[in-house]
Amino acid sequence: MADAPSDCLFCRIAAKEIEAKIVHEDEDTLAFHDINPQAPTHILVIPKRHITCLDDLEPGDDALVGKLIRTGVEIAKKEGHAGGPTERGYRLVFNAGPDTGYSVFHVHLHVLGGRKMTWPPG
Ligand code: AMP
Ligand code: ZN
Repeated sequence: MADAPSDCLFCRIAAKEIEAKIVHEDEDTLAFHDINPQAPTHILVIPKRHITCLDDLEPGDDALVGKLIRTGVEIAKKEGHAGGPTERGYRLVFNAGPDTGYSVFHVHLHVLGGRKMTWPPG
């Protein structure tokens, strides 16, 4: 990962320099438990390649973004959270920018499940 900033927390987790409870890994993505879970299931799915923020996505990243989402769905299912109309469901969230509390500047998808969630979100 030639362009991985050495001070990016999630790049360092992807490089296995910092420990995380990893639940999935493939050549493009890594998923691990959020250190400060906001629901019984709270897992983050990241691209291994550093992308600072959603605004930096390019057309060539479309397949990668699809993979992040599909990986999030597979993880939600594996954790027991199916999303069909008769199931309890789960939530996938990307934050971007200060209004959302975006705090780790490496794109990540939150996979949340296991409790009732409000809408609109807080
Ligand atoms: P966001 O607010 O969308 O930027 O979310 C960043 C998330 O990263 C938060 O939910 C944090 O709890 C989580 N987080 C921060 N440091 C770590 C870490 N070392 N391992 C796992 N998750 C982390
Ligand atoms: Zn990074």
